[in-house]
Amino acid sequence: MTVTTTADFHPLAESVQPVFDTVLSRSPHEPEFHQAVHEVLHSIAPVLERHPEFVDGGILERLVEPERQILFRVPWVDDAGKLQVNRGYRIQFSSVLGPYKGGLRFHPSVNLSIIKFLGFEQIFKNALTGQGIGGGKGGSDFDPHGKSDAEVMRFCQSFMNELYRHLGEHTDVPAGDIGVGGREIGFLFGQYRKVTNRHESGMFTGKGTGWGGAEVRTEATGYGAVFFAQEMLAVRGDSLAGKRVGISGSGNVAIYAIQKATQLGATAVTASDSSGYVVDDAGIDLDLLRQLKEVERARIVEYAKRRPSARFVEGGSVWEVPVDIAVPSATQNEVSLADAEALIAGGVQAVSEGANMPCVPEAVEAFQKAGVLFAPGKAANAGGVATSALEMSQNASRQRWTFADSENKLREIMADIHGATFDAAERYGVPGDYVAGANIAGFERVAAAMLAQGVI
Ligand code: GLU
Repeated sequence: MTVTTTADFHPLAESVQPVFDTVLSRSPHEPEFHQAVHEVLHSIAPVLERHPEFVDGGILERLVEPERQILFRVPWVDDAGKLQVNRGYRIQFSSVLGPYKGGLRFHPSVNLSIIKFLGFEQIFKNALTGQGIGGGKGGSDFDPHGKSDAEVMRFCQSFMNELYRHLGEHTDVPAGDIGVGGREIGFLFGQYRKVTNRHESGMFTGKGTGWGGAEVRTEATGYGAVFFAQEMLAVRGDSLAGKRVGISGSGNVAIYAIQKATQLGATAVTASDSSGYVVDDAGIDLDLLRQLKEVERARIVEYAKRRPSARFVEGGSVWEVPVDIAVPSATQNEVSLADAEALIAGGVQAVSEGANMPCVPEAVEAFQKAGVLFAPGKAANAGGVATSALEMSQNASRQRWTFADSENKLREIMADIHGATFDAAERYGVPGDYVAGANIAGFERVAAAMLAQGVI
């Protein structure tokens, strides 16, 4: 098992290093969590210099420790009648700005480190949306791939039989993430309704539009990441029109990033899954990709078999394909330093993270050094959770907004996040550094609220 040490990271400013050391010693086997915390601490050290009240208020010491961590057994019976046991997680990180809010991830790689890094990121991302939502994340090491619908349903029911007691529209509101889409959300919501005897629409987001779900929620993360890229390009007087866009993944984020990039006049040329990637210089055929991934749940190689303009590359990295704009939309740490160097050599101008923390720290550094516009996930992919908050407001007021109204609102929110991030970077003397800007702008909102609400 990995034990991360201080030596694995750049030294931090004196004001924040002890907080990081405590994280390492208290949670020694959580490398992804360490990575996420290190990045934030590095960015916000200058904020503490200007705000000694945040130091006196012990804001950081409290912020890196989740308010509550829930780990539980999820027993279920497979189609062959065999008993299976998975582990369930919900990390309720911060409720200072609103009910805990964040997705559930079902994937075999899920462990405490992954859920804590995601929950930690979610605090700042959600603060950036300006929508009054706290930060949380959950999931399980259950793998929905290759399972029957009945198995997925039994798993979801067992998962909710425990988790329901920790949820509620004013307490904790989950949504989807990797491995948790419309099917899983339906089963989870149904079981919550049964065990609580309440039709509490606002306790889950990403619901079907026929039963309380919001228009544009499904599309929002991918659309938002592309809107953010558009905002960054606009600062340089440029746009997406005519650009070649490289996208990794083939799930919800990737599919709708491809759709929006195409609608804005770019050509999205790649998609991938864990088996390899496809390149399609004619532009990804979205209907085919959706049929394969959302209906047939097939591997990406099938795309190349059915599309003459595409080729499949087994195993290789999708980032070896030269593109103008990259939207990594698969998973954490998928873009290595070598990938970043290949993208830079290929002339990439902007990177907008559709996934959470898809670029390793060395890759981020390389992009920034090369003058590539770089948007971190907590700003660029915040459109998903922001639209979840819009779903919560519609549920609370029993209203239904149209697709066009919801998309306009999303576009506005992404422009606001870009503005707040850009502005924070300027105020702290690191113009154009969206990583610092996102961490600072998110942290300022959370820290001010923590200070106002006392030692909780
Ligand atoms: N899982 C998404 C994220 O990483 C969405 C969370 C939500 O809508 O609550 O932000």
